[in-house]
Amino acid sequence: MYELNEKIRDLEPYEPIAGEYKIRLDANESFLRLPESIMASALHATFSVELNRYPDPTAKALCAAFARAYRVDAANVVAGNGSDELISIIFQSFLQKGDTYATVAPDFSMYDFYGYLAECRGVSIPKNEDWTINVDRLIETCNREQVKLLIFSNPCNPTSLGLDRAAIRRIVSGVSGLVVLDEAYMDFWNESMLAEAASYDNLLILKTCSKAFGLAALRVGFAVGQERLIRAIKAVKSPYNVNALSQRMAETVLKNRGECEAATRRILLSRDALQAGLLQLMQRFPGKMEVVQGVTNFVVVRTPQAEALFQKLLADSIAVRYFKAMSALRITAGSTGENAAVLDHIRDFFEA
Ligand SMILES: *Cc1c(COP(=O)(O)O)cnc(C)c1O
Repeated sequence: MYELNEKIRDLEPYEPIAGEYKIRLDANESFLRLPESIMASALHATFSVELNRYPDPTAKALCAAFARAYRVDAANVVAGNGSDELISIIFQSFLQKGDTYATVAPDFSMYDFYGYLAECRGVSIPKNEDWTINVDRLIETCNREQVKLLIFSNPCNPTSLGLDRAAIRRIVSGVSGLVVLDEAYMDFWNESMLAEAASYDNLLILKTCSKAFGLAALRVGFAVGQERLIRAIKAVKSPYNVNALSQRMAETVLKNRGECEAATRRILLSRDALQAGLLQLMQRFPGKMEVVQGVTNFVVVRTPQAEALFQKLLADSIAVRYFKAMSALRITAGSTGENAAVLDHIRDFFEA
C-alpha cells in the first residue's frame, strides 16, 4: 500500500467552521457587499477577458492599480492568489530545509503551518501577558537563534493590537534576517510601513484584498518590497497564480479608491459600535469578561468562559472564532443587526 509520508500523514484539510450559521462573524471578512455600481463595472471588466488564454503571469495592470492606490512603485509589487499563497511561497523559497524562522505568539496560525511544510525550525516568541510585544526581547531572540525569517501580523490577528512604525523600524533594522510584515488589517489603522518598504533590503510587506476591500472570494493579495526580493518571488511563484477574472475585478475595485475608503470607514464605525457594546457588557458583568481595545475590524473578548460562550453562540446560529490558548473570542464587526444579535446573546449568556 502507498504510504503518505510522515510530514503530511496526520494533517487535516482546513475547515474554518463547518455548518450553516445565520450570522458569520468568524472570519474577519467585510460585512459589506461591493456597491452595486462597482460590482457592475468589475463584472463588465471581465467581459473582455479571453478565457481561452492564460492570464498575465505578472498581473501587471492589477499591480499597477495597487501601486497607484497605495502610492508605491509598481516594480516593488507582486500579486498572489491571496496573501496566503505569498506566505507559502516565501516559506518555501526564502528558507531552506532546517533553517530557523520565528513567529510571535499568539499570532496568525498559518505561519507555523507553512514553516512546518517547509521543514524549518520554528522559534515561537511569546508575547507579554497583555499580548503586547517586547520589542527588545524579540530582536534579541531572533539574533541569538540566528533566525532567517521573522513573520508577524501588524495589526495582529487574533489580538487586534498593533505596533507603531517606530517599533517596526527598530525590528527591521535590529534583526539580520528577513522580516515579513503582514499588514492584512492595516487599512483599519494608520501605522503602515508601505511608504518605507523600498528602504530596507530585508523587509517584505504583505497586503490583501480580502479584509477591508471585501474581496475575499477573489483571492488576491500582494507583497511589497525592494525589487530584488520581489523579483525573487516572481521567479519562484507558479506562473499563472492569479486567475484572469480576479485580476480584472480586483483591478477595477482598486481603481475606485474613494469607494474602498468609504467602505473601510463604515466597517470602522461598526467596529466602534461593537466594541462600545462589549465594553458596556464588561461593566455590567465585572470580572466575567474583558474587552481588548484593538485597531482592526474585529474585537477580542477575553473570558474564562470563552469555550462555553462560543458553544452557546454557535447553538444560537452565531459563528465567532474561539481561541483556546488565549481563552478568548474574536468577533468580526458586522452589520448593525448582526452586532446587536451577538451583543444580546452574550448578555443573555452572562445573565444566565
Ligand atoms: C486574513 C488574513 C490573511 C489572508 O489573506 P488572504 O489574502 O485572503 O489569503 C493573511 N494574514 C492575516 C493575518 C489574515 O488575518
